[in-house]
Amino acid sequence: MRLSQFHLRTEKETPADAEVISHKLMLKAGMIRKLAAGLYTWSPLGLRVMRKVEAVVREEMNRAGAIEMAMPSIQPKELWEETGRWAKFGPQLLKIRDRKEQDFCFTPTAEEAVTDFARNELASYKQLPVNFYQVTTKFRDEIRPRFGVMRAREFVMKDAYSFHIDDDSLAAEYRNMYDTYSRIFTRLGLKFRAVFADTGAIGGSASHEFHVLADSGEDALAFSETSDYAANVELAEAVSPGGRVAASESLRDIDTPTQKTCEDVAALMGIPLQRTAKSVAIIGSDADGKEQFVLALVRGDHMVNEIKLAKLPGMADYRLATEAEIADYLGSEPGFLGPLDAKKPIRVIADRSVAALADFVVGANKPGFHIAGVNWGRDLPEPETADIRNVVAGDASPDGKGVLGLARGIEVGHVFALGRKYSEAMKCTVLDANGKAVNPAMGCYGIGVSRIVAAAIEQNHDANGIRWPAAMAPWNVAVCVINPKNDSAVSDAAEALYAELKAAGFDAVLDDRGLRPGSMFADIELIGIPHRVVVSGRGLEAGTFEYRARDATESENLDHETLLGKLR
Ligand code: ATP
Ligand code: MG
Ligand code: MG
Ligand code: MG
Repeated sequence: MRLSQFHLRTEKETPADAEVISHKLMLKAGMIRKLAAGLYTWSPLGLRVMRKVEAVVREEMNRAGAIEMAMPSIQPKELWEETGRWAKFGPQLLKIRDRKEQDFCFTPTAEEAVTDFARNELASYKQLPVNFYQVTTKFRDEIRPRFGVMRAREFVMKDAYSFHIDDDSLAAEYRNMYDTYSRIFTRLGLKFRAVFADTGAIGGSASHEFHVLADSGEDALAFSETSDYAANVELAEAVSPGGRVAASESLRDIDTPTQKTCEDVAALMGIPLQRTAKSVAIIGSDADGKEQFVLALVRGDHMVNEIKLAKLPGMADYRLATEAEIADYLGSEPGFLGPLDAKKPIRVIADRSVAALADFVVGANKPGFHIAGVNWGRDLPEPETADIRNVVAGDASPDGKGVLGLARGIEVGHVFALGRKYSEAMKCTVLDANGKAVNPAMGCYGIGVSRIVAAAIEQNHDANGIRWPAAMAPWNVAVCVINPKNDSAVSDAAEALYAELKAAGFDAVLDDRGLRPGSMFADIELIGIPHRVVVSGRGLEAGTFEYRARDATESENLDHETLLGKLR
C-alpha cells in the first residue's frame, strides 16, 4: 500500500470528549468516526486492524475444527418466542416491524437462529459433534454506549455454537474452545486472563470469560497468582447483594459485627434516605455540580437499613434518584423493579470504578462474609457458588492455594456450556446410536472482534500513540521517504526497498505522501506501525537506512542486510 493512495486522516489534537485512551487514540488516528450513539464507521485504517483480528480468530477457529457459516442479522419474533427470550432479553433487543406488520429483532446473539438451523440440518448422532461459527454484526441497544467501539450498540462478534450427543462431548469441545481462545489472545499479543463467569441472559451451566487486563475495564476480576482460581466479581454480584461493592479493598477492614443504619447513612451523606421497601438510588454530584449515579439499591427494604456508606471521593453532594431515573439507569423494563427472585434480592450497582468505591464501606455481619448485612441461610438461601461469594483482595483463594488479588478487565471473549436449554425449548432432536430421538447438548462461544481493537490499545500505547502488537498492526513496516518529489534517487531507493519487503512477505506500507519528516513520523507513531525505516539522501550516501522500532527511543543507521535481519 502507498499512503499517497490510501485514506489516512489523523488529527493533531487529542479529542477531549472521549473518556478512555483507546477511544481518544482511535479517533485521533482516524480509525473510527461516530455516526450516532454507539454506531461507528470504520475507516479504511480501522478496518485493516479489525481484519487482522478477524484473520487470527478465523485461523484458530478453523484449526480447532469449527466451520464458518452466516446467519441473518434480522430474525423473526416467533423464533425468539420459542425460547422466551423475546421478552426476557429486555430493552437491549432492538425490535423492528416490517411493512406486513411482522416483528423482528436485530440479532444480539444467535442461539435461536443456529438451533433452528440445527433442527432442520442435523438428524443423526453421526453428524455430531459439530461447531458452527460466524463473524457478523450484532446489535444490542446498550443503555450506556460508551468508550467508542468498546461498548457500542452495533459491533462485530465472532459467535460459535456446538452440538453434542452427550455431556462428555460438550465438555471436550468446551475445553477445545477454551484452549483456542487462549491461543487467539496469545497470538494477538494481549495480556489476558480467563475467569469463572456468570451465565447471564445466555444461560447454561458453566462459563468462562476472557478478559484483557486494563485499568479502564468495566469488570472487576478476582484471581490468585499462585492458584488457578479466577472469577469475575460480577459472578459474586449475581449470588450476593453488593457483590460488586464487596470487591472493594476496604472491606477487609470491616469484618466486625458493627452495622450502621440507614439513618446513619443518611446523616453521613446529608440526604433524606428513608427506610423504604422501594428501590433506592443515590446520585452524587462533584464540585462542579456534575451528577453521576453512585449507588443503586433495587428493592432494598431490610437491606437498606444495614448498608453503611461513607462519602465517595470526588463527590460533593448527594441526592436520591427517582424511580424513573433508576429504571432508566438500569435499562429495565418497569417489571424489573418489582420483587426480585431469592437469588437477587437486592442489586447494588456503582458507576465504573471499584477503586472509587473504596470508601463506600459496606457492613458485614459475620467474619468472612463481606456482603452487606446478609445472614446466609436466614436472609438468603446459601448461594450455589459459595466459593466465590467473598471476593476480597488479600483473602485466601477458595482453593486455599493462594491469596486473592483484584484487577480490572475488559471482557473480550466468553465461552458457555449451555446444556439442553435451547435444544429442548426449540425441540431440536437427533437420533442417538439406539435410534432414539434426543436433544443435543450445546455450547456457545463469543469473541468481541471489534472490542478487541480498542482493548489492545488500552494495553499498548504511549504518549505518541498506539503501539500495536505485531499481529494487529495495520502494517508491520513503514518505509518513510524523505522529500520524494524532489529527489528521485531517494524515491527510487524507497520504491525498491518497498518492493523487496513486499516480495519477502512483509506487510509493508510506503509513506510517499511527501510530508515533512516530523509530521510523517508523528503519523506513523500515532497509528502504531511496529517498524519504521527512513530512506533519505543522507542515508543513501552513507549506504544506510534509518531504522526505529515503535518501542525504541533511538534510531539506528543500518545497512541493508542488518535492516532485513531486524525486521524478521
Ligand atoms: P458485557 O458484559 O461487556 O456487556 P456481554 O457479557 O453482554 O458483554 P456476551 O453476550 O458474552 O457479552 O457476548 C460475547 C462478546 O461480545 C463479549 O465477550 C464482548 O467481547 C462482546 N460484546 C458484548 N457486548 C458488546 C458491545 N456492546 N460492544 C462491543 N462488544 C461487545
Ligand atoms: Mg452485555
Ligand atoms: Mg459480560
Ligand atoms: Mg459475556
